[in-house]
Amino acid sequence: MAEVDLHLHTTVSDGRLTPQELVDLLARRGVRIAAITDHDITDGLEPAWEAAQACPELTIIPGVELSTDIPGNEIHILGYYIDYKDLELQASLAHFRLSRVDRAQQMVGRLVELGMPVEWDRVQQIAGEGAIGRPHIARALVEKGHVATLHEAFDLYLSRNGPAYVEREKQSPVDAVQLVVQARGVPVLAHPGQIDELDDILITLKQSGLEGMEVHYAEYDTELIQRLEATAQRHNLLPCGGTDYHANGSPGEAVPGDLGPPPEVAERLMSLASQRGGSHH
Ligand code: AMP
Ligand code: ZN
Ligand code: FE
Ligand code: FE
Repeated sequence: MAEVDLHLHTTVSDGRLTPQELVDLLARRGVRIAAITDHDITDGLEPAWEAAQACPELTIIPGVELSTDIPGNEIHILGYYIDYKDLELQASLAHFRLSRVDRAQQMVGRLVELGMPVEWDRVQQIAGEGAIGRPHIARALVEKGHVATLHEAFDLYLSRNGPAYVEREKQSPVDAVQLVVQARGVPVLAHPGQIDELDDILITLKQSGLEGMEVHYAEYDTELIQRLEATAQRHNLLPCGGTDYHANGSPGEAVPGDLGPPPEVAERLMSLASQRGGSHH
């Protein structure tokens, strides 16, 4: 059992549990320190803190996940203890969310051309009020019977090199790290397992303030975790991680409490955060 999970999504982006439901699950599973890291949005934090008042043993860390495209791949940056009330941060996030709508609409257009039509209204309905993303389109594809599973929707159409994929508005990984730093948060590289030339990227991002990288990640086997642990150590980065839980219900989906970094990592993350003056609550 793991007591720390630093990567979690809710219905305010593409997760399927509300912040309240997620907090209940975390408490049931014995998680003590958890970060809510929705894509381009922090609206899940306050309801989560409110729900967590009933769970004194559970601490919720404010977080966010930012996505960037690089040639042939994508890089996600997690920001912990960001000052989520910072107006510039919120303006940037609002801008990213708007461009998500445009991008999702373009992907729906591609699917129509590919003969796998889904209705834009339905995709928006599935996304609700939060940050729209590919998983919402994937669910519409499943609903229509074009694919059997979310996984298949990504494999056949929506993955970075899939025929329906549309790139995001240009933002580099360095831009994302800088945005977190400007909001007084602690930037961490998400799920780096598939990144080529990882060492070069880490050197560049460290110059902008990167403090950690995910090592303990749900989809990674022991061998990869060991390799990433060594990489983190080599670059003097905190070995973070979590389940990246979306409550998709996919077979084999890891649940909070299944894995995560050791408590010591969360403590070091918190002490880095106090040096930066971001938000705890
Ligand atoms: P977006 O933010 O629109 O680019 O969508 C990214 C999200 O899609 C990720 O955070 C995951 O939740 C989901 N995702 C990406 N690749 C896959 C995959 N192969 N299978 C299932 N979900 C995926
Ligand atoms: Zn997601
Ligand atoms: Fe991610
Ligand atoms: Fe994520």
